[in-house]
Amino acid sequence: MAAHTLGTGQDGTLVCLACDQSRDAGRYLCRTCWWTLPAAARASLSRRDRNALARLRQLVDQLRADTPLNRIEITP
Ligand SMILES: [Zn+2]
Repeated sequence: MAAHTLGTGQDGTLVCLACDQSRDAGRYLCRTCWWTLPAAARASLSRRDRNALARLRQLVDQLRADTPLNRIEITP
């Protein structure tokens, strides 16, 4: 998995990691999916530090395991 290509469509547009709708730059998910995440997961994913990529991997792993968005847990 290459982080720099995650969530990028074939034409270079940014797409939500969960539903393929377009998303804002700097966010991993579209607004609908983002606000479906538990508040704790949103807070963790919003932090930008050296563990940010590890938290992104947690999100991606759970999405690939078909974890419902409202059940996603990210290490704080
Ligand atoms: Zn989405």
